[in-house]
Amino acid sequence: MGRRKLVVGNWKMNGLRAQLPEVEAIGALAAERPVVEVGLCLPATLIMAASQVKGGAFVGAQDCHMKDNGAHTGCLSAAMLAEAGASWTIVGHSERRQDQGETDADIAAKALAARAAGLKVILCVGESLDVRDAGGAEDVVSAQLLASLPEGAAADWLAIAYEPIWAIGTGRIPTMEAVEAMHKALRAALASRIGAGEANAMRILYGGSMNGENAAELMAIEDVDGGLVGGASLTATKFAPVIAAA
Ligand code: PEP
Repeated sequence: MGRRKLVVGNWKMNGLRAQLPEVEAIGALAAERPVVEVGLCLPATLIMAASQVKGGAFVGAQDCHMKDNGAHTGCLSAAMLAEAGASWTIVGHSERRQDQGETDADIAAKALAARAAGLKVILCVGESLDVRDAGGAEDVVSAQLLASLPEGAAADWLAIAYEPIWAIGTGRIPTMEAVEAMHKALRAALASRIGAGEANAMRILYGGSMNGENAAELMAIEDVDGGLVGGASLTATKFAPVIAAA
């Protein structure tokens, strides 16, 4: 299908300048494996320093504001993040949906703001454990994706990350069959909105306790085009087998 695998670390609220050698080591791993696109979405405080570190990994942000500027104390615009050296940003991570009450409409607006500033975007979706247990998670997450999808969504600037909330940071992952069914459903939902060609080109990542043990099996699934990786991206030693598996 020709989709280049995309493996992105999400450092969340972890990392000081003392961790820049890890960024450099991960950049070196990425440079050794150019067949895979590798990136690190870092705390905003590290973006500028990390983007000056040599290596093959892009530097991204974890969120951006939907507005260009204004009275939004503590927030960062997409242009600020781009100027600092970010080339990608995550939007709609479940931790922000939960902790900051971000809605699907907010997330679509953030994605558009990011694009306008020249950032590429990883848009996260995923179900709670209650939804998974109740059945029909594919329908719920497909609806969430379509509600969060920005105007003009296209594979050259947008990737999707399917992250079951109950799998994030827990060490639990869905069955391979469940991941396969979800990614297939999400691609079909994308096709219904943006057409089959664009949907087939768009990368859909899996995220949620991906690590060196399970990455190869997860990324061998047909519609899994890489990973969004939290805990296992914090050191080059942990991230190396994930990058190697892609
Ligand atoms: C994430 O932060 O997006 C994530 C998937 O975390 P973890 O890999 O630690 O579950």
